[in-house]
Order: sequence, then C-alpha cells, then structure tokens
Amino acid sequence: MLIYGKEVAADTRSKIKEDVKAFEEKYGRKPCLAVIIVGEDPASQTYVRNKIKGCAEVGMRSLHYEYADGVAQSEIENTVKTLAGDDSVDGILVQLPLPAGYDEKRILELIPDEKDVDGFSPTNLGLLAMNRPGTISCTPFGVMKMLETTGVDLSGKNAVVIGRSNTVGKPMAMLLLNSDCTVTVCHSKTKDLKEITSRADILVAAIGRPKFVTADMVKDGAIVIDVGINRVDGKLVGDVDFENVEKKASFITPVPGGVGPMTITMLLANTLRAATAKAER
Ligand code: NAP
Repeated sequence: MLIYGKEVAADTRSKIKEDVKAFEEKYGRKPCLAVIIVGEDPASQTYVRNKIKGCAEVGMRSLHYEYADGVAQSEIENTVKTLAGDDSVDGILVQLPLPAGYDEKRILELIPDEKDVDGFSPTNLGLLAMNRPGTISCTPFGVMKMLETTGVDLSGKNAVVIGRSNTVGKPMAMLLLNSDCTVTVCHSKTKDLKEITSRADILVAAIGRPKFVTADMVKDGAIVIDVGINRVDGKLVGDVDFENVEKKASFITPVPGGVGPMTITMLLANTLRAATAKAER
C-alpha cells in the first residue's frame, strides 16, 4: 500500500489552518515564519517558494529575505539577530545549504532555540535524544506522522535507518527509538548493509543516491520510507527502486508525493507550536 504524503499533508494542513485561526482570534496576530535564502540554487529556491506558499495556505504570516551569493556573512548574521529579537517573529529558517564560503554553523547558532522551527539546534536535538518536548526536525517528524497512518504498532519493530545526517538520519533514528523500535543506523562505512536492511520491519532511506535500495535489500512485508530526493534527467527520483521494492513492501512512500509534502507541513506545525509557546509564556 502506498503512503501518500500529499494526502496526509493536506489533512494535517487543514487542522493547522483551524488552529492558526484560533491563535489569531485569541492573540490578535498571525504566527509568523521568517525565511532566509542566499544564492540561486534552483532546488533551494523551490523549497523556499513552497514554504512561503504553505504559510499563506494555512493563514500564517511569512517574511522572505533573499540575498545574492556574495552578500557579506555579517549581513546575514545581522538579519538573523534582528529577527531573533523581533517579538512578532515566531520561527526563523535559514535555507540550507548556504553557498560555499559561508560559516553556516555561526549563522544557525544565532537562531534562538525557541525560534528554531527546523529543530536543528543542539538543544532541540538534545531534547529529542532525551525524549523530552522540543522542536523536532521537520522531515523525520513528518515520517513519524506518515507511519502513524499505517496503524502499525511500532513497538518492538526492527527499524533500520540508512543515513546519519544531523537533520534527517539521526533525529529519525531517535524518534523510532523513542517509539520503542529496535534501531540500527547505517552509513557509508557500514559493512554488510544488505544483511542489515533485510531484517528491517521498517526501512528508512535517507542517503541521496537514486534507487540505491533494491528489492533484494528489503524484507517481505516491510514498511519502506523513501526520504531521498534526487534529480535524474530532470525527473525526481527517490533513494528506493520503487518499481521493484513496491512488490515486496507492505507500505511504501512514493517520490514525489511522499515524504516531501510532509516536511513543509511539519515546518508549519513547528511554527504554530513556537508561536503558541511564546504567546503563553
Ligand atoms: P546527507 O547529509 O548527504 O547524508 C547522507 C547519508 O547517507 C550519510 O550519513 C551517508 O553516510 C549515507 N550514505 C551515503 N552513501 C552511502 C552508502 N553507499 N551506503 C550507506 N550509506 C550511505 O543527506 P541528508 O541531508 O540526510 O539527505 C538525504 C536525502 O534525503 C537526500 O536525497 C536529500 O535530498 C533528501 N531529503 C529529503 C527531504 C524531504 O523533505 N523529502 C528533506 C531532507 C533531505 P556518511 O555519514 O558515512 O557519509
């Protein structure tokens, strides 16, 4: 069975829209997300456009700061500092990756934890590791929402995550662990990858290599989540060889239309959460 992120995202967004309306009625303002982009990378430009569009769709305010590649690091830092101190701004997002030459870490460190709606800060990642409330990285958060829709009890399941980035693989593994899965994290130095993935009840691919996960790597009846977004001859392709793996999986996410739409939806959810927490402080 397919898990259509698009449908789950549409349902979640209509709930967020209602909550945004209630927030506005209660506090007299809209939740606000500020997005900063540097350079012309077409994929980043598309992501940012969709994030701004997503805000409008659920009735949130958005601020859009666009800089040409070459702008001084200090200018970006000053914008983040201003937004950090602006009470009407609830979430700050710097679209990654920044073009070469910028100190990404220094810029991200200027985002206060409570406005880190991407869930990338050491504090938010640490809270997740401790299974305490915090902002959860949007993509893995979206994957958990999609897993929920399968109705499968995750407790005790063997989960394998391929990829260990701080933004996807690691938080994904922590979320699955917090849901009582037995989790294995694989990466480029993993030996006998196929032997490990073949035991997975839940297999998450977050690698960035087109059709990397082939049918012989997948257990019959596994739930397969494809986080990958790769462009091949102008077409979007996931990390999973969908055509063949689909025949073995009990549930699988397509690319496009799978994890992608959920990522932006969870960004909107995180922004609303940040706004509500701030308003209630
Ligand atoms: P990343 O930072 O490049 O991490 C890729 C991970 O894959 C690394 O941990 C790497 O291992 C591992 N890897 C690479 N080659 C491997 C191999 N041959 N065998 C096993 N593991 C291997 O990428 P990311 O930011 O996590 O993103 C992963 C993918 O998800 C990309 O396609 C990205 O575009 C996509 N993505 C999608 C969404 C969405 O909304 N759908 C959001 C974010 C990212 P090492 O650590 O050893 O190098």
